[in-house]
Amino acid sequence: MSAMNEWKLREMMCEIGRRIYDKGFAAANDGNISYRLSEDRVLCTPTRVSKGFMKPDDLCIIDMEGKQISGKRKRSSEMLLHLAALKARPDMRSCVHCHPPHATAFAVAKEPIPKCVLPEIEVFLGEVAISPYETPGGQKFADTILPYVKDTETILLANHGTITLGVDLEDAYFKTEIIDAYCRILLLAKQLGRVNYYGDDKAAELIKLKPGLGIPDARLTRGLENCDLCGNSLFREGYGSFSPEPKVFLHPKLIDQAAQGGETSACGCSTGEDRAGNGSSAHGRTSSNGNGAPAGPNVDALVQSITDQVMSALNGSAK
Ligand SMILES: [Zn+2]
Repeated sequence: MSAMNEWKLREMMCEIGRRIYDKGFAAANDGNISYRLSEDRVLCTPTRVSKGFMKPDDLCIIDMEGKQISGKRKRSSEMLLHLAALKARPDMRSCVHCHPPHATAFAVAKEPIPKCVLPEIEVFLGEVAISPYETPGGQKFADTILPYVKDTETILLANHGTITLGVDLEDAYFKTEIIDAYCRILLLAKQLGRVNYYGDDKAAELIKLKPGLGIPDARLTRGLENCDLCGNSLFREGYGSFSPEPKVFLHPKLIDQAAQGGETSACGCSTGEDRAGNGSSAHGRTSSNGNGAPAGPNVDALVQSITDQVMSALNGSAK
């Protein structure tokens, strides 16, 4: 890489740092950014510097083991996390780690990121994982993302923050911006009192758009055989003992499954055509099982009846 190109990348890293700081994604000196310059050279942010006020020559260069090669300041202590991600994903060049408040709130609550709410999330982020908590800085902490990072570029770090990967600096940063905006919208909608979801057939339509946009998705390479796209997650099965369960954002399918006392599995909905007449509207207010037949409790009616009882009790006591 020419000195000119490297300088431009340094300027861009400072610019991304400014955006992270201005958005409130990194208080004080929080957050760090990396970019793979070559096979064994990674440009990264220094420790104990606000990401909002970096200059190009504040940045460090390290090797893939984290050893500092150049830079007047010491590299960020969280670089082992970035290196673990970059080693696992040779197709990615850049990582952004920070503590964006709305996404971090989900990481603190260990609330899985719900699917089938906003179409852009399905296309630009796909599955989002939560990795287990570990004390930041060491290799043990870096290794917490390894089970997930092959299948997603957006990971919430439990009780900590986020890491996003991209083909370049802006791509990695955008995923941070997208996940935090999504989490903000979810929290606002929850305050309004109702979150509506679309169904598996609509999710499959979105996932099938991704190859045309050049965006990979682990579920496509697996043939969408896990057709329970809205209710299930790649990361709820087969990733060891740490599997956060949704408590706040529950797709109607999950409520159905709980009511039926088990998980749904194969449901023949990968194309959507065989479920004509049971499109997204079926998932809006009333619930349906994987075969399209009405099943499980009508949760809205249940909530309404409880609300009515509470209101009438309140009104009664006020008289
Ligand atoms: Zn951190």
